[in-house]
Amino acid sequence: MTSQRRIAQLPSTGLVDARGRGLRDLRISVTDRCNFRCVYCMPKEIFGRDYQFMERSELLTFEEIELVARAAVSLGVDKLRITGGEPLLRRGIEDLIERLAAIRTPDGRKPDLALTTNGAALPVKAAALKAAGLDRVTISVDSLDDTKFREINDVGFPLSRVFDGIASAADAGLGPIKINAVIKRGVNESEVVPLAERFRGTGHTLRFIEYMDVGASNGWRLDDVVPSAEIIRTIHAVHPLERASAARAGETAVRWKYRDGAGEIGVISSVTGAFCGTCTRARISADGQIFTCLFAYRGFDLRALVRDGADHQTIVDALAKLWAVRDDRYSEQRAELSGSRERIEMSYIGG
Ligand code: SAM
Ligand code: SF4
Ligand code: SF4
Repeated sequence: MTSQRRIAQLPSTGLVDARGRGLRDLRISVTDRCNFRCVYCMPKEIFGRDYQFMERSELLTFEEIELVARAAVSLGVDKLRITGGEPLLRRGIEDLIERLAAIRTPDGRKPDLALTTNGAALPVKAAALKAAGLDRVTISVDSLDDTKFREINDVGFPLSRVFDGIASAADAGLGPIKINAVIKRGVNESEVVPLAERFRGTGHTLRFIEYMDVGASNGWRLDDVVPSAEIIRTIHAVHPLERASAARAGETAVRWKYRDGAGEIGVISSVTGAFCGTCTRARISADGQIFTCLFAYRGFDLRALVRDGADHQTIVDALAKLWAVRDDRYSEQRAELSGSRERIEMSYIGG
């Protein structure tokens, strides 16, 4: 399907960018810090003891985040995702959830409110997050082998504690839960079938994410990417799959369902199947820069605007102006641009 035809299927929100894409999703990073050092995201050699993380005063406050989120929702955003770094490290995160849960779209609906986490803190946080108004969580699990899992997170964090987190989230009602797995050639490709089998029939949706060239610190090479088509073929050979229809326009994951009714999986083909034509996402870093693409190297300084005393309408106008000129489509241009551009780390911009 061409991008033009896909754009035509997107619901109109009024505001569209230079390629006809609405603004529907806002990903809000609340910290650039993390208690893990996943080798593909925050390698220890770079994010070591001397690494300068943001100062507390640099972070947007919860009031400031709420102001920006309200402006974005008034422009058509109906999905808010809290991320990082590790968002559960941000002190008082439940208070932010409570503020965001009180926001309504122009037609009176509560935006979908989700959070992506490594799961480590969920046993202590899940119930409070749910009580504050969080709808759903996505939890990252890249391996089912405890030794390999510890190697990937590179801080020796045990897999069993992430599963405790998944159970706590399910008990608290933070479902349907999505499980994210990044597959890197030679690291965890052998985990594809075990992961599929572990989550089949549980009601949790496993999503395989192609390893991406975000930032400059993970030493990305195209050869390290395990294409989604290969992942689907591998699982299909053991547990037959068929395509399922998208639940929502602009969805990043392509859905597949098990023919025997044991649920669904998703694949996010950021490298082999660019979905820029339907990309309705903006991202805010923890220090208040807004980016209109995961691969953007420059953001717009919303924090300066907010701290200059901007009111709701001023922020709405700034966002609308920024979105109207958005022309990003990095994944479609990757072959031409890769290596020739600065890029920002995933832990900074928010996954
Ligand atoms: N710390 C939280 C977590 O790990 O879920 C939230 C932030 S993390 C940056 C968000 C997601 O981005 C995770 O699922 C992670 O696996 C994914 N991610 C990080 N670096 C990536 C890369 N280079 N390619 C693909 N996905 C990546
Ligand atoms: Fe931390 Fe998430 Fe990045 Fe892993 S993927 S280092 S848990 S921010
Ligand atoms: Fe969206 Fe940029 Fe990713 Fe394309 S490369 S899908 S525009 S975030």
